[in-house]
Amino acid sequence: MNIHEYQAKRLLQEYGVPVPRGYAATNSREVETAISHLGDDMIVVKAQIHAGGRGKGTFTDGYKGGVKVVKNREEAQEAANHMLDNTLVTAQTGPEGRKVQTLYFTEACDIDHEYYLAIVLDRETAQSVIIASTEGGMDIEAVAEKTPEKIIRVPISPTMGLRHYHCRRVAFALGFAGDQVKQFARILTGLYKMFWEKNAMLVEINPLVTTKQGQLIALDAKVSFDSNAIFQHPEIQQLRDLNEEDPKEIEASKHNLAYIALDGNIACMVNGAGLAMATMDIIQSFGGSPANFLDVGGGANEDQVTAAFKIILSDPNVKGILVNIFGGIMKCDVIANGIVAAAKNVEIKVPLVVRLEGTNVEAGKKILRESGVALTPADSLVQAAEIIVEQVKNAD
Ligand code: GDP
Ligand code: MG
Repeated sequence: MNIHEYQAKRLLQEYGVPVPRGYAATNSREVETAISHLGDDMIVVKAQIHAGGRGKGTFTDGYKGGVKVVKNREEAQEAANHMLDNTLVTAQTGPEGRKVQTLYFTEACDIDHEYYLAIVLDRETAQSVIIASTEGGMDIEAVAEKTPEKIIRVPISPTMGLRHYHCRRVAFALGFAGDQVKQFARILTGLYKMFWEKNAMLVEINPLVTTKQGQLIALDAKVSFDSNAIFQHPEIQQLRDLNEEDPKEIEASKHNLAYIALDGNIACMVNGAGLAMATMDIIQSFGGSPANFLDVGGGANEDQVTAAFKIILSDPNVKGILVNIFGGIMKCDVIANGIVAAAKNVEIKVPLVVRLEGTNVEAGKKILRESGVALTPADSLVQAAEIIVEQVKNAD
């Protein structure tokens, strides 16, 4: 799960990392209030979207820059008028861009140098790793590719945690001396504590800057949390911005369904991630193309199956549905009842093939046969895939 820069900075501040004073706004009244809280001096106006590269981005109406450093309140208001409700395209948004629904106004600072500082979970070594560079502010991937020697990597053992020598090692590698080593150690300590306590997968400050006055400040922040641990952090869950997510995936998560939209035309409803992937593969091997990954889970009930049908059918590309359920923990007759009830509840106009296997399979098939719902039962996964691919082809 991702959060906005202004939310990430609030968290950083709670962990003792200095950030510029700032105010967020989602409508014109809030924009006015936010600007009035800042002095009539240099202000930074920042579009809040879950994507980076905003500074170099362009709005779809031609307005340049999702991060603007302006001279006074009047110019801040002007920049806000351009940005709010406009669509920003950056290297990370894809060509369709993202609608800007929140702005963040901060005090500007006099930058001396821009650094990069992050902590990420490294799956290969099963440790967290500090990544730092003197070449912050711009595209860190480009730095890693062209001048990999400018990227510092320091692994942290999960049993030891962050120690002072880690901080000194990174601080010296970045060229800090004197009081800045102390400032940097405080920042890195706070950043690691936040990373650890909030079950983050990535905390990134880019740029971390030194000001002309010698202070270290986090000017931009990105944080991603481990969705599997988010239930432990209701305060983080609250920060979720549904405007930034695919509506079908939001609906699926409300019903505890694992759903990912794909670009094919055969929808799949399956229980178990492995079976879901096998189903997608076999559709493909018969020349079809899956419209989604959908795992309804081991204990799906009628409501969930109904919700799953609704989500599947809200995708205009779907030309056929393959239901492939293994009744293990859940019994086939219960599933069949769920499918029938859901099919009656949601109007299904495309071909529907159902393959059931497992406990009470005969009772389940009987329910499907006698339901009056227009569906084709199948005995095996191979047969099911063959039929649905054929039916979708014929419907074209
Ligand atoms: P991103 O483009 O989405 O990564 O947005 P950032 O928040 O990182 O801002 C992009 C760039 O704007 C930074 O690398 C800075 O060069 C510049 N910037 C941001 N805040 C300030 C500020 O307070 N003062 C000055 N002079 N530049 C700033
Ligand atoms: Mg940045």
